Amino acid sequence: MNAFSFERATSPAQAAAAALRTTGAKFIAGGTNLLDLMKLDIESPTHLIDVNGLGLDKIDTLPDGALRIGALVRNTDLAADARVRRDYGVLSRALVAGASGQLRNMATTAGN
Ligand SMILES: Cc1cc2nc3c(=O)[nH]c(=O)nc-3n(C[C@H](O)[C@H](O)[C@H](O)COP(=O)(O)OP(=O)(O)OC[C@H]3O[C@@H](n4cnc5c(N)ncnc54)[C@H](O)[C@@H]3O)c2cc1C
Repeated sequence: MNAFSFERATSPAQAAAAALRTTGAKFIAGGTNLLDLMKLDIESPTHLIDVNGLGLDKIDTLPDGALRIGALVRNTDLAADARVRRDYGVLSRALVAGASGQLRNMATTAGN
């Protein structure tokens, strides 16, 4: 694995600024995809920006009844959400069909 620096973003603006400031920077969420790619030398970011602290892990119901899914909602939580199961059953079933329980507990919507 190649050397890289690491920071934890505390706001979306800080995360975006860090990505703009550093050539070769990548966001990291659950890490289930990116870390494998780094170990295989397919990805070699010079800087990792951890976005897990940004609080983007909510599923909101909008006035028109649609759902807004946060970037950091874990696959497990999205699949189990009562609104998703009721109104978007194919999405829920597709999520549960993917990977393993441990991976789904870490994997995020934006990462996927
Ligand atoms: C064994 C295995 C089986 C799998 N099976 C399936 C499957 O059947 N179906 C399926 O759909 N997927 C499958 N996956 C993929 C899995 O769902 C993804 O690895 C996971 O969703 C990635 O999410 P993460 O949060 O871990 O992303 P990370 O690994 O943290 O990041 C992945 C990419 O997304 C970027 N990223 C992450 N968060 C953000 C953000 N907020 N904004 C912008 N960019 C961001 C990162 O920079 C990186 O480029 C499998 C993975 C594994 C390892």
